[in-house]
Amino acid sequence: MIQVIKGDITKIEVEAIVNAANTSLLGGGGVDGAIHRMGGKSILEECQKIRSKQGGCKVGEAVITTAGKLPAKFVIHTVGPVWNKGGNNEEHLLYSAYSNCLKLAILNNITSISFPNISTGIYKFPKEKAAKIAIKAITDFVEINHNAIKRIIFVCFDDENYTIYSNLLNIEK
Ligand code: ADP
Repeated sequence: MIQVIKGDITKIEVEAIVNAANTSLLGGGGVDGAIHRMGGKSILEECQKIRSKQGGCKVGEAVITTAGKLPAKFVIHTVGPVWNKGGNNEEHLLYSAYSNCLKLAILNNITSISFPNISTGIYKFPKEKAAKIAIKAITDFVEINHNAIKRIIFVCFDDENYTIYSNLLNIEK
């Protein structure tokens, strides 16, 4: 089941929430800041361990930590591309970010996951283009993996993304 809701991803009760992190894994603004603020310092400590082992997270890849004080059990940290007019493989990298989160979810037996609108904030990816890529990555994954993940939720923070996703998925607001 694919759902769209408008709200704050830190409040959602699912097994895993996705963080739109940066390559340092050391926290930042936007949704990343909110997740670390609400989840407490254990998330950052785990990110630091991953960083010292593998040097952060590359664009398009994903890593997993527990979720500290959040209602979720896990945080999957992925790094979306910074939009640079589309000439830097951004579309492919955004697709990879979504699909690598789903692969990591399966590896950890996660059956419910919520995504923010990766790269559409500080990283300036055009919202409609990003939404189409996100939906394609998820529908491609569902086609191959059927019901492995029972609930996939797009959590839109701003009205514009909420309208775009609702229209693309034909969901009544
Ligand atoms: P990026 O650097 O990948 O663009 P941002 O955090 O700046 O990451 O923005 C990604 C998306 O997350 C934006 O659409 C922004 O509106 C949204 N966002 C910001 N805070 C939250 C939150 N608490 N819950 C869900 N989405 C959020």
